[in-house]
Amino acid sequence: RAKTAGRARVALFDGSLHRDAVRRLEMENDLRAGLRDEAFVLHFQPIVSLADRRTQGFEALVRWRRTPDALVHPGDFIAIAEESGLIVPLGFWVMAQACRAAVRWNAAEPARVPRWVSVNVSPRQFRCDDVVERVRAILRDTGIAPGLLKIEITESVAMENTERAIAVLRSLRDLGVGISIDDFGTGYSSLSSLHRLPFDTLKIDRSFVGAIGRDGDGIVRTVLGLARSLRLAVVAEGAETAAQVDALAAMGCDQAQGFHFSRPVPEAAVAALIAP
Ligand code: C2E
Ligand code: MG
Ligand code: MG
Ligand code: MG
Repeated sequence: RAKTAGRARVALFDGSLHRDAVRRLEMENDLRAGLRDEAFVLHFQPIVSLADRRTQGFEALVRWRRTPDALVHPGDFIAIAEESGLIVPLGFWVMAQACRAAVRWNAAEPARVPRWVSVNVSPRQFRCDDVVERVRAILRDTGIAPGLLKIEITESVAMENTERAIAVLRSLRDLGVGISIDDFGTGYSSLSSLHRLPFDTLKIDRSFVGAIGRDGDGIVRTVLGLARSLRLAVVAEGAETAAQVDALAAMGCDQAQGFHFSRPVPEAAVAALIAP
């Protein structure tokens, strides 16, 4: 019996499971090498005020130059980075690079209103015991004004250990860093826990923005009403069409981000997006 079971397992491992495991292991090794060689680049996507259509700041989005001519998007590697724990060093590297970029783009135009940068913080990163210390060190080392850094966490992360999340978010807020809830509406946060969390911005998930004019209007209006009563700013993600942007503005949404305004761009293209 044992023999048969053993053979069955071997057969399974020769198949697609095996290939998948090898692929993941290779990717993990390549990611580790990529970290060592700094093979990652950031692109920046503008977040635009709907009142005057000006860029207020940028979300930093990581890409991986896995080979000289392949720029891999996060959807294809973030999950493995998260499972392997590599997201922790990668995420803090992204944060430091994003702060340095923001210092540069604001120094280039000192007369203008400074534009902030918003950085995604993964669940694993947020769970680090020293997350607050590491953010503090990045602020100090990069010299960015703390008010020019925002972090984005998802509602599930904020909800999973609410007491700790409240303490960490308070400490980050006390450093002067802004806090956004990303992909809002896709999680399961109860309104009662939500209002105890010290964050300042809700980012409405693009699935709802994409459904404006169909069945998305109700949810978008509900989120906007909730945000108003909690005195939160709202960013609509994934605004792709003029009709969506006009509808969002008419509903009283503060800010939007999406291909209608710009795709994520390399740092060299940022200056053109903050022209007066
Ligand atoms: P996210 O934080 O919700 O970022 C927004 C994603 O939506 C980006 O995809 C952006 O390119 C895309 N997007 C923006 N506007 C539009 C639009 O109008 N239409 C459509 N269809 N898409 C739009 P991207 O860069 O591929 O990133 C995907 C996700 O990967 C991000 O979602 C975020 O969760 C994660 N991610 C990206 N960079 C980092 C990072 O540095 N650290 C961590 N932990 N996660 C990251
Ligand atoms: Mg985000
Ligand atoms: Mg998002
Ligand atoms: Mg999203």
